[in-house]
Amino acid sequence: MLHCDDDDLAVIALGEPAGAADETHLRDCARCRAHLEQLAAVVASGRALTDSDHPVAPPAAVWASIAAELATDELATVTPITSARRSGRSRLLLVAAAAAAIGVLAGGAIVGGLLGDRGAPELVAEAALKPVDDSGFSGQATIERDSNGNVLTVSIPDLPLVADGYYEVWMATADTSTMVAIGTLNPGHVGHFALPDGMDVNAFPVVDVSVEHFDGNSGHSVTSVVRGQLPV
Ligand SMILES: [Zn+2]
Repeated sequence: MLHCDDDDLAVIALGEPAGAADETHLRDCARCRAHLEQLAAVVASGRALTDSDHPVAPPAAVWASIAAELATDELATVTPITSARRSGRSRLLLVAAAAAAIGVLAGGAIVGGLLGDRGAPELVAEAALKPVDDSGFSGQATIERDSNGNVLTVSIPDLPLVADGYYEVWMATADTSTMVAIGTLNPGHVGHFALPDGMDVNAFPVVDVSVEHFDGNSGHSVTSVVRGQLPV
């Protein structure tokens, strides 16, 4: 049996009168009638759309959770576009709009990551970390500045575990009279430490790594393993 042409069925679904041959065929062919009904249903729902069915901006909470989910600073600064009227029927469209937004934002973040639009970190200073009191260990300290501020990176290869203790990274004034605790360095890891905003690294050019004990004493133990001075 030769069935109705799809284009003809679409035109009929849009309201044009069926030709004689199609009309005759549709009377006898359940398959073509079903197809026409499907097309007619699509046309009907398309015509039933109103202004309130246009996609609207998802609520702020959705954007917040998208940003939290992807945990990127760029996304956190995205603000939702002005919300429009929202009917119960348009909730599905809202979901679709949110899904599309997630796709766009995630795509943008990936592209941004590939293109490095956060800006390559700028090297501020670096210094060799030399053994203190013949500790036998040495390493490297660098300070880089990116869009989030200064980051101190400390690398001391072959640093052993400390029995009942740990390593603390400090930055100190040139005379080491004032020391700021920067963070814990675990053996076998390169430490990355965000430096406090407003901390003038020129005033604290000495990088020191000490052995500390779990004694609740927040001061420097005076047992250092490496130290170096940044040329800042
Ligand atoms: Zn047919």
